[in-house]
Amino acid sequence: MDDLMDKIGKKLPEKGIDRDEILKMLHKLAESDVDYKTGRTWSLVYHAGEAHTEFLKQAHGVFFETNGLNPMAFTSLKRFEHDVVSMTAHMLHGGPEAVGTITSGGTESIFLAIKTYRDMARRKRPWIRRPNIVAPVSAHVAFKKACEFLDVRMITAPLDKDFRVDMRAVRRLVNHNTILLVGSAPNYPYGTIDPIEELGRLAQRRHLPLHVDGCLGGFMLPFVERAGYPLPLFDFRVPGVTSMSADVHKYGYAAKGASVVVYRSMDYLQHQFFIETDWPGGLFASAGVLGTRPGGSIAAAWAAMLAFGEQGYTELARKTMETTRQMQDGIRSIPGLAIVGRPDMTVFAYHSTDKALNIYAVGDLMEEKGWHIDRLPKPPALHAMVTINHQDAAQRYVEDLRASVEYLRAHPDMAQKGSAPMYGLMAKMPLRGMVKKNVLQIMKQMYSPEGRMPDLSADGDTARDPLVNIGLKALQWWERFRGS
Ligand SMILES: *Cc1c(COP(=O)(O)O)cnc(C)c1O
Repeated sequence: MDDLMDKIGKKLPEKGIDRDEILKMLHKLAESDVDYKTGRTWSLVYHAGEAHTEFLKQAHGVFFETNGLNPMAFTSLKRFEHDVVSMTAHMLHGGPEAVGTITSGGTESIFLAIKTYRDMARRKRPWIRRPNIVAPVSAHVAFKKACEFLDVRMITAPLDKDFRVDMRAVRRLVNHNTILLVGSAPNYPYGTIDPIEELGRLAQRRHLPLHVDGCLGGFMLPFVERAGYPLPLFDFRVPGVTSMSADVHKYGYAAKGASVVVYRSMDYLQHQFFIETDWPGGLFASAGVLGTRPGGSIAAAWAAMLAFGEQGYTELARKTMETTRQMQDGIRSIPGLAIVGRPDMTVFAYHSTDKALNIYAVGDLMEEKGWHIDRLPKPPALHAMVTINHQDAAQRYVEDLRASVEYLRAHPDMAQKGSAPMYGLMAKMPLRGMVKKNVLQIMKQMYSPEGRMPDLSADGDTARDPLVNIGLKALQWWERFRGS
């Protein structure tokens, strides 16, 4: 099989390969991926057990070949989309007028929201030349990406001492070209909910729309609340909120490729639609970014929501919150460690409060123990996205963390080894332009005709161009800080 694998990929095989052989290769290649099923990875995959995964595959499989491009052709998919949007809107207290669409993920939901408000502003405030949005600096990087793609300026507001957006800063930053305010419920880095009620009041006073990014929290917060945890208002109950994004493929435990963008009414959603009447291919209308849309993801989102229901999601939320609290209590009991801010749900970061304790070195030691650890730059911290799959891993995680901290205190020179100095450098790195240039260089290599994967393990290779070294390190950083 290895012989065969070496030959594959330069061009199409002359003769088709036996399908059983191909399946074997797929399984072999999957072995080198991160191990997410045992709860040692803290992002990227939301796994609710084998039985649920099998169920999702079946639901996905029934609609495997279908295409959500034309809702007239696949009325089943239209039904699923309508139901998923309605159920999500209801969950978020959207009211009787709420409408929305299923998208391929949080990024598309955010793109569409910004596009919608940009086009709405073009209609209603045509004098605006350079539209901007005002968003917390902790808002997901997809906002930055969407703004760059859509030629909208992103103004970022700093956070207060509790790691929520600083409202005084937001008020100051809104100007005549502002077309949208943004808040997160919660944000990815710290798991804190921005003051949505205050943002809502400001939005109403300035006659601006307000998008709440609930990509992470949309399918968790409503049930955290139901489970009895006190939370600030974060959804359409706040009058100024005009839209929300919520990812079914995160805490909704659906198949990947499913998020929802919900608007308070059609007054907003209509600006999202694209209609072309003059194309030689015929009349074309679409509600989102994609043309062809995989029907399987839409069907699996519907299936997941029906399978869990309110009680199921509440039970998941209750257990996941318990696991989170157990981990946080454990972390707080380790001298020198503290939770960053006061996270509202099941995602949080923790940092070192002791100068002698390098948190990135703690991360390295955890990785040696088999955990896949995500890092944050500001403040230097480690990150955890807790899911239902982490119940059995939490206690061990805290024990390993305690042991790692103790080991580091006994061997302080550890902080000079491994990747810790690099993360320290990256967190402080003043030369962002240089980092960007070097990451670009590496991406060009990765996507070159040869498709070279950079060798991330080659640390401290002094023979290499020092700029490339910094780029590699930046890439290593990026590999662990991308927010999913
Ligand atoms: C994951 C995430 C997004 C982006 O969603 P994708 O599905 O990865 O495109 C946006 N906002 C927050 C808070 C997220 O956690």
